[in-house]
Amino acid sequence: MIEKQARCHLREPKKDSSRQQTMDDKLILESSTTAKYTGLKYLVSEFRLNSVERVIQKKGKGYRPDPSFRRDAVKQFQQRLHETTGQKINKLDLSIVSKYFEKFIEMVNEVLNRVYADSYEFNRICSDLAGYRGQGYVLLRKEPTLSYQHNPEIKADTFERLYRNALEQAARILLSDWMRRQLLTTALEIVHEDSNKLELLLARKRVPPGLIKEIREACEAVEKKGSVYYYALSVLRQLRRTLDETILTDRGEPLRTRGSQRYRVKKYLKENGRVMLRAKSLVEGWLTNGYPFETPLMKSFATDFSGSTENMPGQGYWYSWDTERENEIFFSIKLPAPVEGKPHPDNPYRTKNLTLRFFDWFPRAVKRDLEKAERAEKQGKHLRAMQLRFRAAKYADQHHQLRNTIDLQHATYQLARLKNRSDRDEETIAELQEKIQRLRDSRRCGPPRLVKRRKRLTLQIPFQPPHPELIDSILGDRTYSRRAGADRGIRVAIVLSTKNGSGYVDELVGFDHLIDKRELLRDQTRKLSSLVRKMRNNWEQKHPDMEHPGHLKKKESLLDAHWRKVRMIDREIARLVAYRTTWFCEEHGVKTLYFENLKSYKPPKGWGAGTLSWKLSTNLWAKVLDTTTYMRQALGHKYGGVWTVNPAYTSQDCHACGERGMRVEKQGARTKRPGGEYFYCPHCGSELHADVNAARNIIDVYQSSTVAGRTA
Ligand SMILES: [Zn+2]
Repeated sequence: MIEKQARCHLREPKKDSSRQQTMDDKLILESSTTAKYTGLKYLVSEFRLNSVERVIQKKGKGYRPDPSFRRDAVKQFQQRLHETTGQKINKLDLSIVSKYFEKFIEMVNEVLNRVYADSYEFNRICSDLAGYRGQGYVLLRKEPTLSYQHNPEIKADTFERLYRNALEQAARILLSDWMRRQLLTTALEIVHEDSNKLELLLARKRVPPGLIKEIREACEAVEKKGSVYYYALSVLRQLRRTLDETILTDRGEPLRTRGSQRYRVKKYLKENGRVMLRAKSLVEGWLTNGYPFETPLMKSFATDFSGSTENMPGQGYWYSWDTERENEIFFSIKLPAPVEGKPHPDNPYRTKNLTLRFFDWFPRAVKRDLEKAERAEKQGKHLRAMQLRFRAAKYADQHHQLRNTIDLQHATYQLARLKNRSDRDEETIAELQEKIQRLRDSRRCGPPRLVKRRKRLTLQIPFQPPHPELIDSILGDRTYSRRAGADRGIRVAIVLSTKNGSGYVDELVGFDHLIDKRELLRDQTRKLSSLVRKMRNNWEQKHPDMEHPGHLKKKESLLDAHWRKVRMIDREIARLVAYRTTWFCEEHGVKTLYFENLKSYKPPKGWGAGTLSWKLSTNLWAKVLDTTTYMRQALGHKYGGVWTVNPAYTSQDCHACGERGMRVEKQGARTKRPGGEYFYCPHCGSELHADVNAARNIIDVYQSSTVAGRTA
């Protein structure tokens, strides 16, 4: 076996940076004081939007069936059934929302079209954007072709604040596309210079990491070299795909799957020297004539109001409390001119309005968590009680922030109206101004994001994370000094380990019931999707121009529902695993947590199909990593204190003596078995669960290969 050290790239975590890293390091919202402590911008909470008429069912523990749902009261029953079940948003509201989104997307795409129309202008605008710290719309609206004031056709179509949001969205798309273009041009130059690199790119299954690094470093447009790893990777994949496409179409073959593309292209490269020549000439052609870039368009059905930072009614959304129902809030959207809406009282938009309602679930969650905490305390579960108290305080804080924002919106609107009246009451005005100042100074939540997925509409509101003092008041004085390692287990979801003086504390975290459920669902999804594919092909052969029939549509929507469930379970697993990890760290005073990174992820030997109960996919692992970082940030750890390390040999080396050990099937066994559950070291005789050994090893591979806080 080749003796090889784990790769180490020592990189110091940045000490004075208070900015959170984003994909491109640009376009971040105004920083807050808490963000300085934690590195975290916002905690996002979701609220499902409902039509105004709808009775929101406040489900959960403590919910009892409504006694009015009785069989004898048929009429009443039917009436209530209509209000409480079925779609949360009725058809009319949904169609208005769809039109609103279509208008918004149309506007963003119009902005993009105007910018892309002239490639010189495009480059100038984008390089300006890349060097600009702040919100992109401020720059874009200075352009004569894009400004709201100078373009009557835009003015006629929409109101200023919505257009500003569209500009902001367009700025983000422009910047990321421009970055990709710059990187791709650099990539072309590099593979053109050295055809060995081109061959490596085409023949290897993995995109060569060295090439990614080289491109990142060579590209002038990219300021911060560390932050564009995934951009560079996807750019190389894109280049390879275009090359594959040409090579395979030359031979009259379809593209098929990525694996099959790679296999065939590699084969042809070996067989025929002309394939390589063809690739080279393609690269050269693109360098001289330009690569056939596609103009990006916005497709997603989401709007965020990030272009509207002040809490004024003009910004396009408006909150107001429902005075009749407890903790329910009306959310109104201002509609652009061509979309007809429905008026609603207590709202500044008159007919250009759509009002929906949502339930502010914070107070209920706070109450429930405090009850639970009390129970846990009685049972002697102090850590659990502390967790619950922390969560309750966090929700209470978020509720307060939401309340604050709503008050501020209303006060500002009221002030504007009072000022316009002929009989101005200076005293009230002064009072209001003072109130507004007070509300403005205290923290408040950020502009929301409106997301439409099929027939559901969600409001995501970003809240500022709890203040350090609030955290301290609940968790008490804490010292964080230890390091901990987290390893993806074979039998369990995650294995955690931390050094406790001379010994170790290990914890195996498994959620077998959820994982079994996920496997079952995945299995059903596979079967269902093959059935749907068969049915679809059958139908399309027999009736090429006809719409899919009802029975097929039913199966399709069933398949969608299955996928949704799988994703929901994934989220739940990630959340639970991250939660346990986070609190394990709190319990043991862990300052830095090390995860294996995903860049070098390869499934270990012996991971055969069906032999393992736990198959944590890379995607799910990334979710766990993200969620853990997020949760630790919310607890006041700067950038989450999560680092990723290269896991090379952590599962083969002995944690105690550092020598190469071996995997054995079970405790006490001495015959080598790759991928076995136990680890045995013939040098020092230590023997323990393989995952625990790996987790302990990860603690000491602390020379990180990425920047702290960056997750995959
Ligand atoms: Zn040993």
